[in-house]
Amino acid sequence: MNKPIKKIVVLGGGTAGWMSAALIKKTLGNAVHVELVESEQIGAVGVGEATIPPIQLVNSVLGINEAEFLRDTKATIKLAIKFEGWKDQDSSYFHTFGAPGKSLAFCHFHHFWIRAKKLGLKTHLWEYDLNYLCAKEGKFAQIKSAEPLFEIPYAYHFDASLYALFLRKKSETMGVIRTEGKVVDAQLNVETGYVEQLQLENGKCVQGDFFIDCSGFKALLIQEKLSSGFDDWTHLLPCDRAFAVPSERCEKTLPYTRSIAHSSGWQWRIPLQHRNGNGLVYSSSYLDDDKARELLLSRLDSKPLDEPRLIKFTTGRRRKQWSRNVLAVGLSSGFLEPLESTSIHLIQSAIVRFIKTFPHAGVSQTAIKEYNRQSEVEYLQVRDFIVLHYYQNRRTDSSFWRDMRNLDIPDSLRHKMELFKNTGALFREQNDLFAESSWLQVMLGQGITPKDHHPIANQPSDEALFEMLENIRKIKSTPIAELPSHDDFLSNYCGATSD
Ligand SMILES: Cc1cc2nc3c(=O)[nH]c(=O)nc-3n(C[C@H](O)[C@H](O)[C@H](O)COP(=O)(O)OP(=O)(O)OC[C@H]3O[C@@H](n4cnc5c(N)ncnc54)[C@H](O)[C@@H]3O)c2cc1C
Repeated sequence: MNKPIKKIVVLGGGTAGWMSAALIKKTLGNAVHVELVESEQIGAVGVGEATIPPIQLVNSVLGINEAEFLRDTKATIKLAIKFEGWKDQDSSYFHTFGAPGKSLAFCHFHHFWIRAKKLGLKTHLWEYDLNYLCAKEGKFAQIKSAEPLFEIPYAYHFDASLYALFLRKKSETMGVIRTEGKVVDAQLNVETGYVEQLQLENGKCVQGDFFIDCSGFKALLIQEKLSSGFDDWTHLLPCDRAFAVPSERCEKTLPYTRSIAHSSGWQWRIPLQHRNGNGLVYSSSYLDDDKARELLLSRLDSKPLDEPRLIKFTTGRRRKQWSRNVLAVGLSSGFLEPLESTSIHLIQSAIVRFIKTFPHAGVSQTAIKEYNRQSEVEYLQVRDFIVLHYYQNRRTDSSFWRDMRNLDIPDSLRHKMELFKNTGALFREQNDLFAESSWLQVMLGQGITPKDHHPIANQPSDEALFEMLENIRKIKSTPIAELPSHDDFLSNYCGATSD
Protein backbone atom coordinates (compact mmCIF):
# COMPACT_ATOMS: atom_id res chain seq x y z
CA MET A 1 0.00 0.00 0.00
CA ASN A 2 1.80 3.12 -1.15
CA LYS A 3 -0.08 5.56 1.00
CA PRO A 4 2.16 7.93 2.99
CA ILE A 5 1.91 7.42 6.74
CA LYS A 6 0.71 10.64 8.25
CA LYS A 7 -1.35 9.32 11.13
CA ILE A 8 -0.45 6.51 13.54
CA VAL A 9 -3.06 5.11 15.90
CA VAL A 10 -1.85 3.30 19.02
CA LEU A 11 -4.41 0.89 20.51
CA GLY A 12 -3.76 0.47 24.25
CA GLY A 13 -2.46 2.64 27.06
CA GLY A 14 -0.28 0.26 29.08
CA THR A 15 3.52 0.50 29.14
CA ALA A 16 3.69 -0.60 25.49
CA GLY A 17 1.14 1.94 24.28
CA TRP A 18 2.56 4.96 26.04
CA MET A 19 6.18 4.06 25.37
CA SER A 20 5.37 3.62 21.66
CA ALA A 21 3.43 6.89 21.47
CA ALA A 22 6.11 8.86 23.32
CA LEU A 23 9.08 7.53 21.32
CA ILE A 24 7.36 7.89 17.95
CA LYS A 25 6.19 11.42 18.62
CA LYS A 26 9.54 12.49 20.04
CA THR A 27 11.59 11.12 17.15
CA LEU A 28 9.25 11.73 14.19
CA GLY A 29 7.83 15.00 15.48
CA ASN A 30 5.36 16.77 13.20
CA ALA A 31 5.91 14.24 10.41
CA VAL A 32 3.14 12.14 12.01
CA HIS A 33 0.03 12.63 14.11
CA VAL A 34 -0.22 10.12 16.94
CA GLU A 35 -3.52 9.21 18.58
CA LEU A 36 -3.74 6.68 21.40
CA VAL A 37 -6.98 4.91 22.27
CA GLU A 38 -7.33 3.25 25.66
CA SER A 39 -10.06 2.01 27.91
CA GLU A 40 -9.91 2.79 31.61
CA GLN A 41 -12.67 0.25 32.11
CA ILE A 42 -10.40 -2.53 30.78
CA GLY A 43 -7.18 -1.20 32.34
CA ALA A 44 -3.60 -2.38 31.90
CA VAL A 45 -2.02 -5.65 33.06
CA GLY A 46 -0.58 -3.80 36.08
CA VAL A 47 2.66 -5.78 36.39
CA GLY A 48 6.04 -5.25 34.69
CA GLU A 49 8.02 -3.32 37.27
CA ALA A 50 11.62 -4.48 36.77
CA THR A 51 13.73 -3.24 33.88
CA ILE A 52 17.22 -3.61 32.41
CA PRO A 53 19.82 -0.88 31.70
CA PRO A 54 18.95 -0.05 28.06
CA ILE A 55 15.82 1.68 29.40
CA GLN A 56 18.13 4.61 30.10
CA LEU A 57 18.23 5.17 26.35
CA VAL A 58 14.45 5.68 26.35
CA ASN A 59 14.78 8.23 29.13
CA SER A 60 17.60 10.00 27.38
CA VAL A 61 15.80 10.16 24.00
CA LEU A 62 12.68 11.48 25.73
CA GLY A 63 14.77 14.05 27.65
CA ILE A 64 13.55 12.70 30.98
CA ASN A 65 15.04 14.13 34.14
CA GLU A 66 16.12 11.09 36.15
CA ALA A 67 15.32 12.52 39.60
CA GLU A 68 11.82 13.53 38.46
CA PHE A 69 11.32 10.09 36.90
CA LEU A 70 12.42 8.28 40.09
CA ARG A 71 10.16 10.47 42.23
CA ASP A 72 7.06 10.27 40.03
CA THR A 73 7.18 6.53 39.39
CA LYS A 74 8.25 5.62 42.97
CA ALA A 75 11.24 3.95 41.38
CA THR A 76 14.29 2.33 42.94
CA ILE A 77 17.65 1.32 41.52
CA LYS A 78 18.18 -2.16 40.12
CA LEU A 79 21.77 -3.43 39.96
CA ALA A 80 21.10 -7.13 39.57
CA ILE A 81 18.76 -10.06 40.04
CA LYS A 82 19.50 -12.43 42.89
CA PHE A 83 18.58 -16.00 41.96
CA GLU A 84 17.80 -18.01 45.06
CA GLY A 85 17.36 -21.78 44.97
CA TRP A 86 17.76 -22.03 41.21
CA LYS A 87 20.78 -24.34 40.96
CA ASP A 88 19.66 -26.39 43.96
CA GLN A 89 17.46 -25.60 46.94
CA ASP A 90 20.24 -24.06 49.06
CA SER A 91 22.26 -22.09 46.54
CA SER A 92 22.04 -18.50 45.35
CA TYR A 93 23.88 -16.28 42.92
CA PHE A 94 23.60 -12.84 41.35
CA HIS A 95 23.12 -11.93 37.72
CA THR A 96 24.40 -8.36 37.83
CA PHE A 97 24.41 -5.70 35.12
CA GLY A 98 28.15 -5.28 35.70
CA ALA A 99 31.05 -7.39 34.60
CA PRO A 100 33.63 -9.13 36.74
CA GLY A 101 37.23 -7.91 36.75
CA LYS A 102 38.88 -6.43 33.74
CA SER A 103 39.28 -8.15 30.39
CA LEU A 104 42.62 -8.19 28.64
CA ALA A 105 43.05 -8.19 24.87
CA PHE A 106 41.32 -11.26 23.37
CA CYS A 107 40.79 -12.89 26.74
CA HIS A 108 37.97 -12.40 29.19
CA PHE A 109 38.79 -11.93 32.85
CA HIS A 110 37.07 -15.16 33.86
CA HIS A 111 39.76 -17.29 32.15
CA PHE A 112 42.33 -15.89 34.60
CA TRP A 113 39.95 -16.51 37.45
CA ILE A 114 39.28 -20.12 36.30
CA ARG A 115 43.00 -20.80 36.22
CA ALA A 116 43.48 -19.29 39.67
CA LYS A 117 40.58 -21.37 41.03
CA LYS A 118 42.35 -24.50 39.82
CA LEU A 119 45.40 -23.28 41.76
CA GLY A 120 43.35 -22.95 44.93
CA LEU A 121 41.91 -19.40 44.84
CA LYS A 122 39.01 -19.11 47.28
CA THR A 123 37.52 -15.80 46.07
CA HIS A 124 34.34 -16.16 44.02
CA LEU A 125 33.95 -14.40 40.69
CA TRP A 126 31.40 -11.85 41.90
CA GLU A 127 33.91 -10.35 44.37
CA TYR A 128 35.46 -8.67 41.31
CA ASP A 129 32.17 -7.09 40.23
CA LEU A 130 31.28 -3.65 41.57
CA ASN A 131 27.56 -4.14 40.92
CA TYR A 132 27.61 -7.22 43.14
CA LEU A 133 29.58 -5.45 45.87
CA CYS A 134 27.08 -2.56 45.90
CA ALA A 135 24.07 -4.91 45.80
CA LYS A 136 25.42 -7.00 48.68
CA GLU A 137 25.99 -3.89 50.81
CA GLY A 138 22.71 -2.22 49.76
CA LYS A 139 24.62 0.82 48.49
CA PHE A 140 24.43 2.97 45.38
CA ALA A 141 25.48 6.26 43.78
CA GLN A 142 26.50 7.27 40.29
CA ILE A 143 30.28 7.35 40.47
CA LYS A 144 31.80 10.20 38.47
CA SER A 145 35.05 8.68 37.24
CA ALA A 146 36.68 8.06 33.87
CA GLU A 147 37.95 4.74 35.24
CA PRO A 148 35.93 1.95 33.55
CA LEU A 149 36.49 -0.32 36.55
CA PHE A 150 34.18 1.99 38.53
CA GLU A 151 31.24 1.78 36.15
CA ILE A 152 27.99 0.65 37.76
CA PRO A 153 25.43 -0.12 35.05
CA TYR A 154 21.93 0.06 36.47
CA ALA A 155 18.24 -0.07 35.65
CA TYR A 156 15.09 0.65 37.65
CA HIS A 157 12.19 -0.92 39.45
CA PHE A 158 9.09 1.26 39.10
CA ASP A 159 5.36 1.27 39.70
CA ALA A 160 3.91 0.16 36.35
CA SER A 161 0.76 2.27 36.54
CA LEU A 162 2.72 5.38 37.58
CA TYR A 163 5.15 4.75 34.73
CA ALA A 164 2.33 4.65 32.15
CA LEU A 165 0.95 7.87 33.64
CA PHE A 166 4.40 9.48 33.53
CA LEU A 167 4.82 8.60 29.85
CA ARG A 168 1.26 9.71 29.13
CA LYS A 169 2.01 13.20 30.50
CA LYS A 170 5.20 13.42 28.40
CA SER A 171 3.36 12.20 25.31
CA GLU A 172 0.44 14.59 25.69
CA THR A 173 2.83 17.51 26.17
CA MET A 174 4.45 16.56 22.87
CA GLY A 175 1.08 16.52 21.10
CA VAL A 176 -0.11 12.90 21.30
CA ILE A 177 -3.92 12.83 21.38
CA ARG A 178 -5.52 10.46 23.88
CA THR A 179 -8.97 9.06 23.22
CA GLU A 180 -10.83 7.23 25.93
CA GLY A 181 -13.07 4.38 24.83
CA LYS A 182 -13.47 0.68 24.34
CA VAL A 183 -12.66 -0.61 20.88
CA VAL A 184 -15.36 -3.03 19.75
CA ASP A 185 -14.32 -3.59 16.16
CA ALA A 186 -11.89 -2.59 13.43
CA GLN A 187 -12.77 -2.05 9.77
CA LEU A 188 -10.50 -3.50 7.10
CA ASN A 189 -10.23 -2.22 3.56
CA VAL A 190 -12.02 -4.76 1.39
CA GLU A 191 -9.31 -4.76 -1.28
CA THR A 192 -6.07 -4.53 0.68
CA GLY A 193 -7.09 -6.01 4.02
CA TYR A 194 -5.39 -3.07 5.74
CA VAL A 195 -6.97 -1.69 8.91
CA GLU A 196 -8.72 1.60 8.19
CA GLN A 197 -10.39 2.51 11.45
CA LEU A 198 -11.22 1.46 14.97
CA GLN A 199 -14.79 1.49 16.09
CA LEU A 200 -15.46 2.46 19.68
CA GLU A 201 -18.33 1.38 21.89
CA ASN A 202 -19.49 5.00 22.18
CA GLY A 203 -20.04 5.13 18.42
CA LYS A 204 -16.89 7.09 17.62
CA CYS A 205 -14.47 5.93 14.90
CA VAL A 206 -10.71 6.51 14.93
CA GLN A 207 -9.05 6.45 11.52
CA GLY A 208 -5.36 6.01 10.78
CA ASP A 209 -2.77 5.10 8.15
CA PHE A 210 -0.87 2.79 10.49
CA PHE A 211 -1.91 0.99 13.69
CA ILE A 212 0.21 -0.13 16.61
CA ASP A 213 -1.48 -2.93 18.50
CA CYS A 214 -0.66 -2.49 22.19
CA SER A 215 -3.86 -4.12 23.38
CA GLY A 216 -1.99 -6.59 25.59
CA PHE A 217 -2.71 -10.32 25.61
CA LYS A 218 -5.95 -9.65 23.68
CA ALA A 219 -3.95 -8.82 20.53
CA LEU A 220 -7.11 -7.25 19.10
CA LEU A 221 -5.71 -6.21 15.72
CA ILE A 222 -2.66 -8.38 15.05
CA GLN A 223 -4.40 -11.64 15.96
CA GLU A 224 -8.15 -11.16 16.14
CA LYS A 225 -8.32 -9.17 12.90
CA LEU A 226 -5.20 -10.24 10.98
CA SER A 227 -4.68 -13.81 12.32
CA SER A 228 -0.91 -13.44 12.41
CA GLY A 229 -0.29 -16.74 14.18
CA PHE A 230 1.56 -17.60 17.37
CA ASP A 231 4.61 -19.78 18.05
CA ASP A 232 3.73 -21.47 21.31
CA TRP A 233 6.86 -22.12 23.42
CA THR A 234 5.16 -23.80 26.37
CA HIS A 235 7.28 -26.92 25.74
CA LEU A 236 10.38 -24.85 26.62
CA LEU A 237 8.92 -22.33 29.06
CA PRO A 238 6.00 -24.11 30.73
CA CYS A 239 5.11 -21.50 33.37
CA ASP A 240 1.72 -20.14 32.31
CA ARG A 241 0.29 -18.33 35.33
CA ALA A 242 1.20 -15.79 37.94
CA PHE A 243 -0.41 -14.42 41.07
CA ALA A 244 0.65 -10.83 41.76
CA VAL A 245 0.19 -8.91 45.00
CA PRO A 246 1.65 -5.70 46.45
CA SER A 247 2.90 -5.71 50.03
CA GLU A 248 4.16 -3.14 52.51
CA ARG A 249 7.63 -1.80 51.91
CA CYS A 250 10.48 -3.25 53.92
CA GLU A 251 12.69 -1.20 56.16
CA LYS A 252 15.64 -1.36 53.79
CA THR A 253 15.13 -1.00 50.05
CA LEU A 254 17.22 -3.58 48.21
CA PRO A 255 18.87 -2.35 45.00
CA TYR A 256 18.09 -5.62 43.21
CA THR A 257 15.23 -7.95 42.29
CA ARG A 258 14.90 -11.25 44.10
CA SER A 259 13.92 -14.32 42.11
CA ILE A 260 13.23 -17.20 44.44
CA ALA A 261 12.64 -20.66 43.00
CA HIS A 262 9.85 -22.79 44.44
CA SER A 263 8.72 -26.33 43.70
CA SER A 264 6.82 -25.46 40.48
CA GLY A 265 8.25 -22.13 39.37
CA TRP A 266 9.53 -19.03 41.11
CA GLN A 267 8.60 -15.89 42.99
CA TRP A 268 9.63 -12.27 42.39
CA ARG A 269 10.19 -9.53 44.96
CA ILE A 270 10.55 -6.06 43.55
CA PRO A 271 11.32 -3.25 46.01
CA LEU A 272 9.72 0.13 45.27
CA GLN A 273 9.78 3.32 47.32
CA HIS A 274 6.23 2.90 48.66
CA ARG A 275 5.65 -0.86 48.52
CA ASN A 276 7.02 -4.19 47.33
CA GLY A 277 5.79 -5.89 44.18
CA ASN A 278 5.45 -9.66 44.59
CA GLY A 279 4.40 -12.43 42.30
CA LEU A 280 4.42 -16.18 42.04
CA VAL A 281 5.05 -17.59 38.57
CA TYR A 282 4.11 -21.24 38.08
CA SER A 283 3.03 -23.92 35.70
CA SER A 284 -0.63 -24.92 36.02
CA SER A 285 0.33 -28.47 35.01
CA TYR A 286 2.25 -28.82 38.28
CA LEU A 287 0.49 -26.52 40.76
CA ASP A 288 -3.17 -25.59 41.12
CA ASP A 289 -4.30 -22.00 41.54
CA ASP A 290 -5.44 -22.26 45.16
CA LYS A 291 -2.12 -23.74 46.27
CA ALA A 292 -0.19 -21.12 44.27
CA ARG A 293 -2.14 -18.30 45.90
CA GLU A 294 -1.56 -19.78 49.36
CA LEU A 295 2.13 -20.31 48.65
CA LEU A 296 2.57 -16.69 47.60
CA LEU A 297 0.82 -15.34 50.69
CA SER A 298 2.86 -17.61 52.94
CA ARG A 299 6.12 -16.39 51.44
CA LEU A 300 5.68 -12.62 51.61
CA ASP A 301 8.12 -10.75 53.82
CA SER A 302 5.64 -7.95 54.60
CA LYS A 303 1.87 -7.48 54.95
CA PRO A 304 -0.14 -7.81 51.71
CA LEU A 305 -1.87 -4.62 50.59
CA ASP A 306 -4.44 -6.24 48.34
CA GLU A 307 -5.89 -9.56 47.20
CA PRO A 308 -3.57 -11.59 44.93
CA ARG A 309 -4.55 -11.22 41.27
CA LEU A 310 -4.34 -14.15 38.84
CA ILE A 311 -2.76 -13.52 35.41
CA LYS A 312 -2.82 -16.27 32.78
CA PHE A 313 -0.41 -16.31 29.84
CA THR A 314 1.10 -18.51 27.16
CA THR A 315 4.80 -18.17 26.46
CA GLY A 316 5.70 -17.62 22.83
CA ARG A 317 5.73 -15.03 20.10
CA ARG A 318 3.43 -13.66 17.44
CA ARG A 319 4.62 -15.23 14.19
CA LYS A 320 4.22 -12.02 12.18
CA GLN A 321 4.94 -9.10 14.48
CA TRP A 322 4.28 -6.69 11.66
CA SER A 323 1.48 -7.56 9.26
CA ARG A 324 0.02 -5.19 6.64
CA ASN A 325 -0.36 -1.81 8.40
CA VAL A 326 -0.37 -3.24 11.93
CA LEU A 327 2.61 -3.62 14.25
CA ALA A 328 2.28 -5.63 17.48
CA VAL A 329 4.16 -4.14 20.42
CA GLY A 330 4.19 -5.37 24.02
CA LEU A 331 2.18 -8.36 25.20
CA SER A 332 0.23 -8.49 21.93
CA SER A 333 3.53 -9.44 20.25
CA GLY A 334 4.38 -12.28 22.62
CA PHE A 335 5.57 -13.02 26.12
CA LEU A 336 8.60 -14.90 27.40
CA GLU A 337 7.74 -14.86 31.10
CA PRO A 338 9.25 -12.25 33.41
CA LEU A 339 12.35 -14.08 34.72
CA GLU A 340 14.95 -11.72 33.23
CA SER A 341 12.72 -8.60 33.01
CA THR A 342 12.96 -8.52 29.23
CA SER A 343 9.41 -7.58 28.16
CA ILE A 344 9.68 -3.82 28.60
CA HIS A 345 12.99 -3.97 26.79
CA LEU A 346 11.34 -5.84 23.89
CA ILE A 347 8.82 -2.97 23.67
CA GLN A 348 11.64 -0.45 23.44
CA SER A 349 13.54 -2.52 20.93
CA ALA A 350 10.42 -3.05 18.76
CA ILE A 351 9.70 0.66 18.59
CA VAL A 352 13.32 1.58 17.88
CA ARG A 353 13.37 -1.02 15.08
CA PHE A 354 10.11 0.36 13.70
CA ILE A 355 11.42 3.93 13.76
CA LYS A 356 14.57 2.79 11.96
CA THR A 357 12.52 1.13 9.21
CA PHE A 358 9.77 3.75 9.29
CA PRO A 359 7.82 3.38 6.05
CA HIS A 360 7.01 7.10 5.64
CA ALA A 361 6.14 6.74 1.95
CA GLY A 362 3.90 3.74 2.55
CA VAL A 363 4.12 0.23 3.94
CA SER A 364 6.61 -1.91 2.00
CA GLN A 365 6.92 -5.69 2.10
CA THR A 366 10.71 -5.46 2.32
CA ALA A 367 10.52 -3.33 5.46
CA ILE A 368 8.02 -5.79 6.97
CA LYS A 369 10.24 -8.75 6.09
CA GLU A 370 13.36 -7.19 7.61
CA TYR A 371 11.51 -6.09 10.73
CA ASN A 372 10.03 -9.55 11.27
CA ARG A 373 13.39 -11.23 10.64
CA GLN A 374 15.20 -9.13 13.24
CA SER A 375 12.42 -9.53 15.73
CA GLU A 376 12.48 -13.33 15.44
CA VAL A 377 16.24 -13.44 16.05
CA GLU A 378 15.85 -11.25 19.12
CA TYR A 379 13.05 -13.34 20.62
CA LEU A 380 14.98 -16.58 20.03
CA GLN A 381 18.10 -15.24 21.74
CA VAL A 382 16.18 -14.04 24.79
CA ARG A 383 14.28 -17.34 24.90
CA ASP A 384 17.54 -19.37 24.98
CA PHE A 385 18.86 -17.30 27.86
CA ILE A 386 15.71 -17.80 29.94
CA VAL A 387 15.54 -21.53 29.19
CA LEU A 388 19.13 -21.90 30.48
CA HIS A 389 17.99 -21.02 34.02
CA TYR A 390 15.43 -23.81 34.08
CA TYR A 391 17.29 -26.49 32.18
CA GLN A 392 20.55 -26.24 34.10
CA ASN A 393 19.18 -27.07 37.56
CA ARG A 394 19.96 -29.76 40.11
CA ARG A 395 16.88 -29.46 42.28
CA THR A 396 15.55 -32.74 43.58
CA ASP A 397 12.35 -31.58 45.26
CA SER A 398 9.76 -31.90 42.50
CA SER A 399 8.86 -33.38 39.15
CA PHE A 400 8.71 -29.82 37.76
CA TRP A 401 12.46 -29.32 38.18
CA ARG A 402 13.29 -32.88 37.10
CA ASP A 403 11.25 -32.32 33.94
CA MET A 404 13.04 -29.02 33.31
CA ARG A 405 16.35 -30.92 33.20
CA ASN A 406 14.91 -33.07 30.43
CA LEU A 407 13.75 -30.24 28.20
CA ASP A 408 14.60 -30.70 24.55
CA ILE A 409 16.57 -27.47 24.43
CA PRO A 410 17.35 -25.61 21.17
CA ASP A 411 20.67 -26.53 19.47
CA SER A 412 21.80 -22.90 19.74
CA LEU A 413 21.64 -23.09 23.54
CA ARG A 414 23.16 -26.56 23.72
CA HIS A 415 26.10 -25.37 21.62
CA LYS A 416 26.71 -22.33 23.81
CA MET A 417 26.67 -24.44 26.97
CA GLU A 418 28.96 -27.12 25.50
CA LEU A 419 31.46 -24.53 24.33
CA PHE A 420 31.59 -22.90 27.74
CA LYS A 421 31.79 -26.23 29.56
CA ASN A 422 34.70 -27.46 27.42
CA THR A 423 36.73 -24.29 26.87
CA GLY A 424 35.36 -21.48 29.06
CA ALA A 425 34.72 -19.50 25.86
CA LEU A 426 31.71 -17.23 25.44
CA PHE A 427 30.77 -15.30 22.35
CA ARG A 428 28.09 -12.67 22.10
CA GLU A 429 25.85 -13.24 19.11
CA GLN A 430 25.31 -10.14 17.03
CA ASN A 431 22.64 -8.00 18.70
CA ASP A 432 22.15 -10.48 21.55
CA LEU A 433 20.66 -8.47 24.38
CA PHE A 434 22.71 -10.45 26.86
CA ALA A 435 26.46 -9.88 26.80
CA GLU A 436 29.10 -12.45 27.73
CA SER A 437 29.08 -11.43 31.39
CA SER A 438 25.36 -12.27 31.65
CA TRP A 439 25.81 -15.73 30.14
CA LEU A 440 28.89 -16.24 32.32
CA GLN A 441 27.13 -15.41 35.57
CA VAL A 442 24.10 -17.56 34.87
CA MET A 443 26.12 -20.53 33.58
CA LEU A 444 28.44 -20.45 36.60
CA GLY A 445 25.59 -19.69 38.97
CA GLN A 446 23.62 -22.66 37.65
CA GLY A 447 26.63 -24.89 38.22
CA ILE A 448 28.48 -25.22 34.92
CA THR A 449 32.23 -25.30 35.60
CA PRO A 450 34.46 -24.97 32.54
CA LYS A 451 37.01 -27.76 32.15
CA ASP A 452 39.56 -25.48 30.53
CA HIS A 453 40.59 -21.84 30.21
CA HIS A 454 42.19 -19.81 27.44
CA PRO A 455 46.00 -20.23 27.15
CA ILE A 456 46.49 -16.46 27.38
CA ALA A 457 45.58 -16.85 31.04
CA ASN A 458 48.68 -19.06 31.41
CA GLN A 459 51.01 -16.14 30.64
CA PRO A 460 51.51 -14.75 34.15
CA SER A 461 53.35 -16.82 36.74
CA ASP A 462 51.19 -18.24 39.54
CA GLU A 463 52.34 -15.48 41.85
CA ALA A 464 51.73 -12.70 39.29
CA LEU A 465 48.28 -14.13 38.57
CA PHE A 466 47.24 -14.03 42.23
CA GLU A 467 48.68 -10.54 42.62
CA MET A 468 46.83 -9.28 39.54
CA LEU A 469 43.52 -10.71 40.76
CA GLU A 470 43.97 -9.28 44.23
CA ASN A 471 44.79 -5.83 42.81
CA ILE A 472 41.66 -5.84 40.67
CA ARG A 473 39.55 -6.97 43.61
CA LYS A 474 40.94 -4.18 45.78
CA ILE A 475 40.44 -1.51 43.11
CA LYS A 476 36.88 -2.64 42.45
CA SER A 477 36.00 -2.47 46.12
CA THR A 478 37.63 0.95 46.80
CA PRO A 479 34.49 3.06 46.17
CA ILE A 480 32.23 0.95 48.42
CA ALA A 481 33.09 2.58 51.75
CA GLU A 482 32.25 6.05 50.44
CA LEU A 483 28.95 5.15 48.80
CA PRO A 484 25.64 6.03 50.51
CA SER A 485 23.02 3.40 51.22
CA HIS A 486 20.47 2.90 48.45
CA ASP A 487 17.79 4.51 50.67
CA ASP A 488 19.95 7.56 51.39
CA PHE A 489 20.74 7.89 47.71
CA LEU A 490 17.03 7.87 46.83
CA SER A 491 16.03 10.41 49.44
CA ASN A 492 18.94 12.76 48.64
CA TYR A 493 18.66 12.46 44.88
CA CYS A 494 14.92 12.61 44.36
CA GLY A 495 13.37 13.21 47.77
CA ALA A 496 12.05 9.64 47.85
CA THR A 497 9.23 9.04 50.30
CA SER A 498 7.28 5.95 51.20
CA ASP A 499 3.81 7.58 50.88
C1 LIG B 1 3.23 -11.84 35.56
C2 LIG B 1 3.97 -10.84 34.73
C3 LIG B 1 5.08 -10.19 35.25
C4 LIG B 1 5.79 -9.29 34.46
N1 LIG B 1 6.94 -8.70 34.94
C5 LIG B 1 7.70 -7.95 34.12
C6 LIG B 1 8.90 -7.36 34.56
O1 LIG B 1 9.29 -7.45 35.72
N2 LIG B 1 9.63 -6.65 33.67
C7 LIG B 1 9.24 -6.49 32.37
O2 LIG B 1 9.97 -5.88 31.58
N3 LIG B 1 8.06 -6.96 31.95
C8 LIG B 1 7.29 -7.69 32.78
N4 LIG B 1 6.10 -8.17 32.34
C9 LIG B 1 5.59 -7.76 31.04
C10 LIG B 1 4.99 -6.37 31.17
O3 LIG B 1 3.98 -6.35 32.14
C11 LIG B 1 4.44 -5.88 29.84
O4 LIG B 1 5.39 -6.05 28.83
C12 LIG B 1 4.07 -4.42 29.90
O5 LIG B 1 3.28 -4.14 31.01
C13 LIG B 1 3.36 -3.99 28.65
O6 LIG B 1 2.05 -4.47 28.62
P1 LIG B 1 1.13 -3.98 27.42
O7 LIG B 1 1.13 -2.51 27.41
O8 LIG B 1 1.54 -4.70 26.20
O9 LIG B 1 -0.30 -4.55 27.84
P2 LIG B 1 -1.35 -4.03 28.94
O10 LIG B 1 -0.67 -3.44 30.10
O11 LIG B 1 -2.27 -5.17 29.17
O12 LIG B 1 -2.12 -2.88 28.21
C14 LIG B 1 -3.14 -3.14 27.27
C15 LIG B 1 -3.86 -1.85 26.99
O13 LIG B 1 -4.81 -2.08 25.97
C16 LIG B 1 -6.04 -1.54 26.36
N5 LIG B 1 -7.12 -2.29 25.73
C17 LIG B 1 -7.29 -3.62 25.67
N6 LIG B 1 -8.43 -3.91 25.02
C18 LIG B 1 -8.97 -2.73 24.66
C19 LIG B 1 -10.15 -2.35 23.98
N7 LIG B 1 -11.04 -3.27 23.53
N8 LIG B 1 -10.41 -1.05 23.80
C20 LIG B 1 -9.55 -0.09 24.24
N9 LIG B 1 -8.43 -0.38 24.90
C21 LIG B 1 -8.14 -1.69 25.11
C22 LIG B 1 -6.06 -1.68 27.87
O14 LIG B 1 -7.01 -0.81 28.46
C23 LIG B 1 -4.63 -1.30 28.18
O15 LIG B 1 -4.52 0.10 28.23
C24 LIG B 1 5.36 -9.04 33.14
C25 LIG B 1 4.19 -9.64 32.65
C26 LIG B 1 3.50 -10.54 33.43
C27 LIG B 1 2.27 -11.19 32.87
